[in-house]
Amino acid sequence: MIRKTALVLLALMLMTISYSSLQVDSSSDTAVKLIPSITTSFPDSIDFSLDIETDILILDIRLHYVVERESFSDVTQEITVGVPMPFQYEMSVYWTWDMRTTGSLPSGTVVRYWWTAADIDNNLYRTEPASFSFDDDNYDWHNLNHNNVTLYRYYGDEGFAADLMQTCQDTLVRLGEDTGAYPESPIRIYIYSSSSALRNAMVFAKQWTGGVAYPAYGVIAIGISRSNLEWGKRALAHEIAHLVTHQMTSNPYNSIPVWLNEGISMYAEGELEKAYENYLKEAVVRGSLISVQSLCSPFSAYSDISYLSYAQSYSIVAFLIERYGQQKMHRLLMVFKDGSTYDNALLEVYGFDLAGLNSLWQDYIIGIYMP
Ligand SMILES: [Zn+2]
Repeated sequence: MIRKTALVLLALMLMTISYSSLQVDSSSDTAVKLIPSITTSFPDSIDFSLDIETDILILDIRLHYVVERESFSDVTQEITVGVPMPFQYEMSVYWTWDMRTTGSLPSGTVVRYWWTAADIDNNLYRTEPASFSFDDDNYDWHNLNHNNVTLYRYYGDEGFAADLMQTCQDTLVRLGEDTGAYPESPIRIYIYSSSSALRNAMVFAKQWTGGVAYPAYGVIAIGISRSNLEWGKRALAHEIAHLVTHQMTSNPYNSIPVWLNEGISMYAEGELEKAYENYLKEAVVRGSLISVQSLCSPFSAYSDISYLSYAQSYSIVAFLIERYGQQKMHRLLMVFKDGSTYDNALLEVYGFDLAGLNSLWQDYIIGIYMP
C-alpha cells in the first residue's frame, strides 16, 4: 500500500515535471502551440511571423533575435509584439524589421531568433532558436573559395572570377609582406555587375558608391563591370585591406587613426595613382599639406581636400613601412588592438608621437618633391 502510494506520487511528480517542461517549449502537446516563420526581402526587410494556437489567454509575446557579427558583447534584441484582442484560439502576430529605418545587413548575414509568449498564469512558452541567412536572392550566385576568401558572382565566366580571386590573394600576400597583417576570419565578397546594380542592393547607397566594406561582418560588396575591371581590382584590394586592418586592430576601446586605416588600403592598391600624386606634389610645392594630427579624424567631404587626404595617408604609411620596416608596422597594429591612444601607440613602437611623425614625414615628402 505504501509502495503503491509512492508510485502514484512518483507518477504525479513525473507528470508535473513533464508538464512544466512542456510549457517552456513549443511541443504539440502543450496548451499553447507556437509556429514561427520568416520571409526576407533583401535588402529592405525581414518579416517575422508567429502563428499561435492556444487554450489559455496569452498576455505577452516577444521576438528575440541576435545578428551574427563580430562584436564584443552578444547583443540580443527583444521586441514586444502586441497581442490581438479580443482573445482568439488561433491567431497570428508578426513584426517587420525595416532596414530603411535601422540600416541594412550585408548579404549572407546569419540571424538567430526565437519567440516567447507568457500566459495569464505567468507560464512562459518558448520556441526553439532558429537561424536563417539574409541573402541577396535577387541573383543566382556562383561561388569560388580560396584561402579563407569566398567570391560570389552572378555574371561573368570562371576566368573572370579567377582573375578577381587572384587580385584578392595577391593583396593578402602583399599586405602580409608589407604590414604583417593577415585575415583572422573568413572574407566574403559579392561582385555585382555594375555600380548601379550594387546600389540597388543597398538601403542607403550614396550616388557614387562603387564598393562597400562591412568590417564587422567580414563582407565586401562591389560593382565591377568588364569596362571598369582595372578600377574594380584596385577597389577590391582597397576594401580587402580595410577588412584585414579591422580584424587586426578592432577592440572595444579605440579606433585607429583614419590616415592609418585609409593609408594601408591605399598602399594595398599598389602604386599611388597619378591623380592623387598630383595633389600631393602640389600641396608640397604650395606648403599646404594637412597635418598628420588632422588626418586622424574623418576626411573632408570637399573633393580636393579629400583627394589630398587619401594621397597623404598613402604617403605616411609608405614612409613608415619603407623607413622603419614591416615588423614595426605589424607591432603598431598590435598595440592599437590593445586600445592604445594614437600618441602612445606611436611612442611605444617608433619612439615619436603624432607631432613627431608629422615633422619627420613632412621632411621626407618635401625631400622627394622639392629636393
Ligand atoms: Zn577606404
